[in-house]
Amino acid sequence: MQFISTRGGMAPAGFTEVLLSGLAPDGGLTVPDSLPALTAATLESWRGLPYAELATEVIGLFATDVPREDLARLTAAAYAPDRFPSPVVPLTPLTRVAEGLDLVGLSEGPTMAFKDLAMQFLGQAIPYVLARDGRVLNVLGATSGDTGSAAEHAFRGQEGVSVIMLSPHGRMSDVQRAQMYSLDEPNILNVAVHGVFDDCQNLVKAVNANPEFKARNSIGAVNSINVGRIAAQCVYYVWAWLRATDELDATERAHGQVDVAVPSGNFGNIYAGHLAREMGVPIRRLMLATNENNVLDEFFRTGVYTPRSREDTLATSSPSMDISRASNLERFVFELLGADEFSRRWPELEETGSLDLSDQQPRLESEFGFTSGTSTHEDRLAAIRLVITLSGRLIDPHTADAVTVALARMEPGFPTLVLETAKAAKFGATVAEAIGGEQPVDEAVSELLKAPQHVAELDDDVDALRTLIEEHALRR
Ligand SMILES: *Cc1c(COP(=O)(O)O)cnc(C)c1O
Repeated sequence: MQFISTRGGMAPAGFTEVLLSGLAPDGGLTVPDSLPALTAATLESWRGLPYAELATEVIGLFATDVPREDLARLTAAAYAPDRFPSPVVPLTPLTRVAEGLDLVGLSEGPTMAFKDLAMQFLGQAIPYVLARDGRVLNVLGATSGDTGSAAEHAFRGQEGVSVIMLSPHGRMSDVQRAQMYSLDEPNILNVAVHGVFDDCQNLVKAVNANPEFKARNSIGAVNSINVGRIAAQCVYYVWAWLRATDELDATERAHGQVDVAVPSGNFGNIYAGHLAREMGVPIRRLMLATNENNVLDEFFRTGVYTPRSREDTLATSSPSMDISRASNLERFVFELLGADEFSRRWPELEETGSLDLSDQQPRLESEFGFTSGTSTHEDRLAAIRLVITLSGRLIDPHTADAVTVALARMEPGFPTLVLETAKAAKFGATVAEAIGGEQPVDEAVSELLKAPQHVAELDDDVDALRTLIEEHALRR
């Protein structure tokens, strides 16, 4: 497989060439130039594979420039029992909530959110490419919680990579803080900035604005547009379909379509589902769930995409979806319009702040299977209460957004798989509000909160950050 840029200004490149870069050199996003077709026979031949081996097969469709034995080693390490308890991604029926409803457990990894599944793969794949090419990488990022901790847990102790992660001083939850600051590997540097998340992001931008400084210190990122993350996320769509159809006989399997409901923000998770569907995984509909920050729901309902400014982005009780500019949507629009039409119409977004594709709207569902919905704080609380009452299972507020949309949209005869993107214990305060009781107690979380923490404090000052990077960055 080769990758090209949505903006047309990049020579086709292989997976390991685009793995370390963020945006393409022309400012676009990298997309596969074509997708392989998975036949029913291929999917059946994968049914008996454990998760890591399935990951080798699925990621191998993208990483055609990595020798198969090497890829098998990387996935075996990424999905080892010390990172994810077997079977890595468990399915739990929620039959009492609705016939045909299943929960797909994507948050069994070290930071209790779905980002671990892709980030742990990068934690193996990136050091592999760096060692091969005799390079080092200093990952510089800003986090308000989930992404930073998933990255740190993926790269801790790995050769050739360091992580310098800025977080807003005193503004994360106790659990998020403990997950990051309890790490004491020398290649992880936590920096608590005296400011808010936007200040952290602006500091990272200011450092990246100096190409000479950036190159000299081998600075990079592992954000949600990373191609390796997308490839690794395709794996659990295949896995979930296989597990959901395990009990069916051969003829039923051949027609065994499922719907999948996905809590969405940056359109990274569900874009992987879209690729799996395009390759032939029998997914009938992709149900996109947003919270009150619903630009994506608006796009799929009307065909008009109007990103909002940071000031117009609400702080909600499903905070990892508080996003009003979905960085991966460009990839889908490129596919929807084709290269020529895309290059004509995409600039409208920069020029007017909005992209009107209402002429394409009917295709979003009929051709690509997308349907969408928005939920509110009250909906989340109600969904958490409903699921614990009827099934005895606690879900987190992000998963609750997807449950809300799934219950509104599901149809008899089509199993609906809800992706569980975080553990309830990670967002205990909202869960406690929903069930009218104490926050859920989790053994691992209580231990984590007791561990000593390591963090450097920094003023909101780019020169101070540059000095810190110079001192800390790995060099070849
Ligand atoms: C990141 C995140 C999401 C949103 O995923 P996208 O890929 O950005 O759409 C949803 N839920 C949780 C818990 C997350 O951490």
